[in-house]
Amino acid sequence: MKHEKKALFLDRDGIINREINYLIRKEDVVFLTGIFELTAAYQSAGYLLVIITNQAGIGRGYYSEEDFKMLTEWIHGEFRKHGINIAATYHCPYHPVNGIGEYRKESPDRKPNPGMILKAIDTYDIDPGSSMFLGDRDTDMQAAFRAGIGERVLYDPEKRETGEQATRIIMDFSEIMPKPDKDFVIPFTG
Ligand SMILES: [Mg+2]
Repeated sequence: MKHEKKALFLDRDGIINREINYLIRKEDVVFLTGIFELTAAYQSAGYLLVIITNQAGIGRGYYSEEDFKMLTEWIHGEFRKHGINIAATYHCPYHPVNGIGEYRKESPDRKPNPGMILKAIDTYDIDPGSSMFLGDRDTDMQAAFRAGIGERVLYDPEKRETGEQATRIIMDFSEIMPKPDKDFVIPFTG
C-alpha cells in the first residue's frame, strides 16, 4: 500500500544543531537541548525521521560534498548512540546567485521549494498529510506546505519569522512531545 508511513521531517541548522554559518567541522556541532528526547519520542510513536537541509555552502565552494557527507554520517552516528535512527538526510547544494559553476542554479530542491521532501515521500512511501515538518524558518514552512505536509511546526523562540505557513509556532520542543497513548494497555500474555 502506498503512502502509509508518517514522518517527522527536520530542518538541520537551528533544529538539530545550533545554527552557525557554513558549519562543517564536527567540533562545531552543538546539538539543541531536547532534540534527542524529541526525536526518540517520535521514533517510538512510529514516525520515520528525515532531515531536510539547504547546503549552499557546497555550491559556494566553502566545503565539499565529501566534507558534508562525513559530517552527516557523524551526526547520524550521534543519534544512533541515543538509539535513534535517522532514515536519511537530504541536502541541496545549489544557490541561484552565489553558486559557483554548475552549482549556480535555481533548484526545485532548495527550500522554500518542496523537492527534497517530495523525494523522501516517494522513496519511503510517506503519507504527507499525517506527517510533520519541524523547522525554524518560514522557508521550511513554505516547502512543507507545498509538499502537503499536514503539521508544520515553526520553532521560533526569538520570534523572527512570520509563521505564515505554519500550523503551529513553538518556543520549546517540549510543546510537541507526543503524548503517551492513554488507551495503551500492555497485553496480558500469561
Ligand atoms: Mg534552519
